Amino acid sequence: METLIRHLEGSSADDSVYREAAEWIKAGELVAFPTETVYGLGGNGLLAASASKIYAAKGRPSDNPLILHIADRKDLSGLVQEIPAGAEALMDAFWPGPLTLIFKKRMRVPRETTGGLDTVAIRMPAHPAALALIRAAGVPLAAPSANASGRPSPTKASHVYEDLKGRIPLILDGGDSPIGLESTIVDLSGAVPEILRPGYIGLPALQKVLGTVVLDPALLKMPGKDTRPRAPGMKYRHYAPLVPITLIEGEAKGRAAYIKRKAREAAEKKLRIAALVSQETLPFYQDYQGGHLLLLSLGERSRDESIAHALFGVLRRLDTLNLSHVYSETFETGPLGMAIMNRLRKAASFQQIQVDQEAEDE
Ligand code: AMP
Ligand code: MG
Repeated sequence: METLIRHLEGSSADDSVYREAAEWIKAGELVAFPTETVYGLGGNGLLAASASKIYAAKGRPSDNPLILHIADRKDLSGLVQEIPAGAEALMDAFWPGPLTLIFKKRMRVPRETTGGLDTVAIRMPAHPAALALIRAAGVPLAAPSANASGRPSPTKASHVYEDLKGRIPLILDGGDSPIGLESTIVDLSGAVPEILRPGYIGLPALQKVLGTVVLDPALLKMPGKDTRPRAPGMKYRHYAPLVPITLIEGEAKGRAAYIKRKAREAAEKKLRIAALVSQETLPFYQDYQGGHLLLLSLGERSRDESIAHALFGVLRRLDTLNLSHVYSETFETGPLGMAIMNRLRKAASFQQIQVDQEAEDE
């Protein structure tokens, strides 16, 4: 199958592109489209066959449920059994936006879409192209991230093309995804609202609306038999480049000293390593001479949305750079710290070391 890329202009010239995309969706096919979080791979959310196509195109396990995307709040009641008061408050505060809510599903939502669950995840994206496509298709779009399963989520049309070329007929190119991390997922079906996946909407913002909110404790640990994240997708290997990544915790100078020592060790073996750093910490590395340390700055700690925005693109590049190992600083301090570190810990398969400043003094 040939995969076409259509560039969106952000004007009425795009209307014919949305009509073309909607025809594919109505025919049961898949279209990748931009959202404010990451690119989505959309199919008809009420058609079991479209869900199966999505799983096949991504190589995604079919017990990993899809998120339904809607463009109008009135479309929610036809998909869910009840709308808890907390959900109304969250939708007032954050929709359209990067927040996905879990509801009890109605019969018309196929089990293929929800990975066999009785609940359904729903979000209204805040991206004009996503909203226009959903409206043109006239159905909720089941849309996971438009990456091949296991790869970092795509934040550019070219990432989608890399992963899904030949598997889908159409990609709508709306430029970079502004946020660059997937939506926050909140489950309101239990006694206490629970964050199943951290995202751009952080814990303090949710607490302000809901009062008590807890974080699924499994998110902080390596998935295993005792730790099953409640969002089924969070248990899978994800975001993970082939090159091993180790997270380095500790004070900036000691961390840089440790990584420079690793670079000298790599140089002796004629290997090359990379360090994921920030603009603020870059100066700590600049006395290192030699091509065995590749410094990749993710952005500014003082604007951690810049780090979120760059993260998946940088993770995608790592396997093309001929590296023996990647060391990454940690980025837990800003408002997006929890979401960034959740993705980074998974990318690193939870490999993390604490550097002792004294021991690293040069
Ligand atoms: P993606 O759309 O690729 O970002 O993945 C969707 C995420 O939402 C996965 O981690 C799913 O496991 C999670 N999810 C979707 N539906 C549900 C649900 N009904 N209950 C819990 N988690 C869900
Ligand atoms: Mg995904």
